[in-house]
Amino acid sequence: MEQAIEIDELLTPREDVALMSGYYSPQIDVEVRLNTNEAPEEPPSDFVTRLQGAIATIDYNRYPDREADTLRDAIAALHGVAREQIYVANGSNEVLQSILLAYGGAGRTAAVFEPTYALHSHIARVTGTEVLVGERTADFLIAPTAFDRLIVEAESSGAPAPAVTFICSPNNPTGRIEDFDTIEAILGRSSGLVVVDEAYGQFAPRSAAELLAEHRNLLIVRTFSKTWSLAALRLGYVIADPEIIEALFRVTLPYHLDAIKQIAGVLALEYEDEMNERVERLVAERRRLVAALSELPVDVVPSEANFILFRLQNRTANEVWTALVAESVLVRDISALPHLAGHLRVTVGTPEENDRFLSGLAHALGTA
Ligand code: PMP
Repeated sequence: MEQAIEIDELLTPREDVALMSGYYSPQIDVEVRLNTNEAPEEPPSDFVTRLQGAIATIDYNRYPDREADTLRDAIAALHGVAREQIYVANGSNEVLQSILLAYGGAGRTAAVFEPTYALHSHIARVTGTEVLVGERTADFLIAPTAFDRLIVEAESSGAPAPAVTFICSPNNPTGRIEDFDTIEAILGRSSGLVVVDEAYGQFAPRSAAELLAEHRNLLIVRTFSKTWSLAALRLGYVIADPEIIEALFRVTLPYHLDAIKQIAGVLALEYEDEMNERVERLVAERRRLVAALSELPVDVVPSEANFILFRLQNRTANEVWTALVAESVLVRDISALPHLAGHLRVTVGTPEENDRFLSGLAHALGTA
């Protein structure tokens, strides 16, 4: 009997994992998908043709380059750093997971400032890392005293200071970028790592990568999923001190990055100019969307990313989300996240998709 109970327990996930809900956005079959901040355009057709040619030359019976040296060299050249400062994984989510596997875990804490990218705290919990939650101002920026307050609160509750602090800039889902003064103040005060998640970094005027030379505890996380139009590929990376990169490799499964992906990443980086042009087009469309939204009964949060957060003045988020789905337009209902009641987030799409969204929204709000 006793043994049966033990077996039952072992058939249940770890207690904190059992209580977790998954992280997902519904993949509903609609004509206009503006819910996951992907690039609306395909990568350049020349890239796709060259990739098709290149994958014919792979030695499929052999494991791929374990440390993805050629790809890491290409990324290092893009950022003017050394290969030893680059770690690559299957999407930047997997990079975040490696960081938490190596530096988080039982008895350690990670800090986030809500509302922010939900996977920072989700992956922390999955790895057994306790999450400390700091606050933002009413403008969704990290409050100047937020980090200090977090440390004082941690001390008084007996929790250790954060081993990893996440700053998402531009922040998902608000689109706001953090002041360099704030980032530098946290870097200076933190005894642990400070991860600046720049998944949307190409849309912002400056990258915190400029601070790498002065701060050994800074990590910059980037992805191929947004600007590079390669969400399907699952490729992301981090730039950091070589000692940190070595630690990340220690928690990585052998041959984690397949050969096709390594080749695709190297090739993609040859199309930087095309990618910059896409960023410019999306920024112009974002401005157009913001101007059009400001004519509707919504409050728009200023964005430096490829998405826009807005608050509905007199309808619930779920009502409007449902009305948009009925018009075959899918946006993200993020109203259940901390401090975001009544808010929706829309990804900037093609001009045609954005028009569909705007007319659907005007209709849903009864202004069309
Ligand atoms: N960081 C942020 C802030 C994101 O918004 C996303 C994508 N939603 C990611 C990381 C993960 O991107 P990927 O795993 O596709 O690289």
